[in-house]
Amino acid sequence: MRGTIATACILLTLALVYGLSCVVRPFRDCWVCSGQAHHRSKSNPALSRPCRWCRATGKRLRLGRRAWNRARSLHRDAL
Ligand SMILES: [Zn+2]
Repeated sequence: MRGTIATACILLTLALVYGLSCVVRPFRDCWVCSGQAHHRSKSNPALSRPCRWCRATGKRLRLGRRAWNRARSLHRDAL
């Protein structure tokens, strides 16, 4: 029983820390273009095209922040 409570406390603490980190830093570097906002051609590095995954910003919303925004949107629509 103690192990279950301790595990629940650890998981809650991790969720709280992750939630706070999503509030402080809602964006992270795009994993497709590594935050460069453009793709470089492997054969000719001088050629590049905008990254469509991050819409050429180099940043993407973190999963926790995206879930929070979705929940807020659903709540707002329900009122
Ligand atoms: Zn990108």
